[in-house]
Amino acid sequence: MISYDLISRRYGRLEGPELLEPLIREVFPGRIALVSSFGTDSAVLLHMVSEIDRKTPVVFLDTGKLFGETKRYRDDLVERLRLERLETVTPLAADERTLDAQGDLWMSNPDMCCHFRKVEPLERALRGYQAWITGRKRVHGGSRAALQTLETADWRLKINPLAGWSEEQISEYFDAHDLPRHPLVARGYTSVGCMPCTSLPSPDGGARSGRWSGQDKTECGIHWSVNGRPMKRSA
Ligand code: SF4
Repeated sequence: MISYDLISRRYGRLEGPELLEPLIREVFPGRIALVSSFGTDSAVLLHMVSEIDRKTPVVFLDTGKLFGETKRYRDDLVERLRLERLETVTPLAADERTLDAQGDLWMSNPDMCCHFRKVEPLERALRGYQAWITGRKRVHGGSRAALQTLETADWRLKINPLAGWSEEQISEYFDAHDLPRHPLVARGYTSVGCMPCTSLPSPDGGARSGRWSGQDKTECGIHWSVNGRPMKRSA
């Protein structure tokens, strides 16, 4: 693999498809995956990747707590964009039995719930890949406000092709390519994750203000390094 410094010098100023194309085709062929939640903006990256190489693996975390609308949207987009490698990953059944037998861990310990439903499955899914693509943007604010298009985390390159994109650019891309919206957008949702932890955004909040509403939690943990945040082990 060429060094991160060289990749950064060559490609660090690019974004969108201009960044994705050389990384998918030339730098990481067969060793790069798109991680998609099939949420409100996901169709943009899915479309870009499908235009470059439909065989690019698309990793989807099925946490067991998703909206039915998200799964139907996933099926629609996979068919419409003719994506050939959807890789669905789920939590370990043993973890679900021992950690969340009642299915309500999200209420008492959402960090632990996210860890076994998202962080651990994603780490499993990304074994064998040297790079992954995410849809995070600086306009999301919080810890994302200083986001770069290229990062390294846990020995992998993390690519954020839309880091500098505005909500208007996202909307224009949907229109230009006639992409369908997530069904919950019509009901006012601006960011969609697991059902128990997603609500409508607050009027004066940002697009992600409906995620873990009323808590100080703003990220599920898949974008923290392995040792980036102490886990609360007790429920
Ligand atoms: S978003 Fe909520 S339900 Fe989903 S894994 Fe995290 S705490 Fe659990």
